Amino acid sequence: MIVRDLPVGRINLDTGAFQVLNEVEFACKSSGDCCRMNEIPVTEGEIEAIQEHGWELDQFLVSLSPVVIPGKTDGARIKSYILKKKPFSRECVFLDEHNRCKIHEYKPFACRMYPFSYEVIDKNQIEIRVHVQSVCRNVQAGMTKNGNSMQIMKGIFSLLKDKFLSE
Ligand code: SF4
Repeated sequence: MIVRDLPVGRINLDTGAFQVLNEVEFACKSSGDCCRMNEIPVTEGEIEAIQEHGWELDQFLVSLSPVVIPGKTDGARIKSYILKKKPFSRECVFLDEHNRCKIHEYKPFACRMYPFSYEVIDKNQIEIRVHVQSVCRNVQAGMTKNGNSMQIMKGIFSLLKDKFLSE
């Protein structure tokens, strides 16, 4: 059986309780791989935030036609747009020559979560997963002795709280 997503843990959004399901080890080393290899979805709210910092739509969106992606809650669908790549390259337009993000302070939620994703299990429970075949070289899953799943989930918890409180 091919395991695509490994559950890292669960978070109770009401109580802030964490449960580690699998130990993984991750620290971003700014390789920029994720900014080259992935199609990055942005929501309308995120687009407005980027525009507020002086960027024009034609500088950073592939198209003004949205794509619809499955949401994380019951049957929801999210209207999204895709970030542009640099000409003749697979790099996101916001990646600079030092592998830094030019819009780090207001970058899309998908970039903040990567290489993790979440699934809403029930009203308050959220499961955090990592794609074990992701392009990120800095994820060790399964056999790691230096796991930091708990620390990862604490970071994701504050990210998700901001997201859910702002929706
Ligand atoms: S917005 Fe920033 S973090 Fe996201 S893919 Fe582009 S360069 Fe990378």
